[in-house]
Amino acid sequence: MYTKYSTTFLTIGLLALAGAGYAQADKDAPAQTEVWKPVPAVVTPGQTSTSAPSDAIVLFDGKNTSAWKGNDGGAVKWTVADGAMTIAGGTGQIITKEAFGDCQLHIEWRTPSEVKGDGQGRGNSGILLMGKYELQVLDSYNNPTYSNGQAASIYKQFMPLKNASRKPGEWQVYEVVFMAPRFNEDGTIKIPANITVIHNGVLVQNHATLFGSTEYIGIGKYVKHGDKESLTIQDHGNPVSYRNIWIRNL
Ligand code: MG
Repeated sequence: MYTKYSTTFLTIGLLALAGAGYAQADKDAPAQTEVWKPVPAVVTPGQTSTSAPSDAIVLFDGKNTSAWKGNDGGAVKWTVADGAMTIAGGTGQIITKEAFGDCQLHIEWRTPSEVKGDGQGRGNSGILLMGKYELQVLDSYNNPTYSNGQAASIYKQFMPLKNASRKPGEWQVYEVVFMAPRFNEDGTIKIPANITVIHNGVLVQNHATLFGSTEYIGIGKYVKHGDKESLTIQDHGNPVSYRNIWIRNL
């Protein structure tokens, strides 16, 4: 644990140094936290899908979005059809009504079969644990982008160990074990969050210790929040679909 922790802060330190060394225009700032090499090796996944166990909270059964609300607090505006809900671009992220901390999450997602755009513009969405820590959703099947921003990355923090992506239009699965961060009374971090992710049956994040919240620009940091916070799914403008979402409190 100590070694892993040290490695994390060494990495943060290096990133911070890299960031401090450049006086770039704001438009270039996002690139400072992009890591393009190495590129995770491609693995062809086997078949995967799991129905909810008896003690799970079903967040989406293919029909009913009542566990969720829109960004404005109103009803979900995404399209529900054929056992899936699909992002209606521009309607905003969706948020669970219930809050979660330590959890096991199962979520299935599908990027559009008709490929449009490239890099971060192709099948982009994201699963934000506690609304703050993004597990990237992206069409990463033959779609180069920065490695720490591809599918199954912890966005701008950790690239996946392998690229287990299925083809566009095929259903994919994330199995997630997430441990929420613990804060001291004064708001400083006591125990950082960590995450383990299995993508289509392949381990892609192995107990990764998060730097902090997901940031598009700069290094993530911890800002004290509740023991439990809502799970969020990102609207990045692309019509990504979701189905079979369930969660277990740990
Ligand atoms: Mg995203």
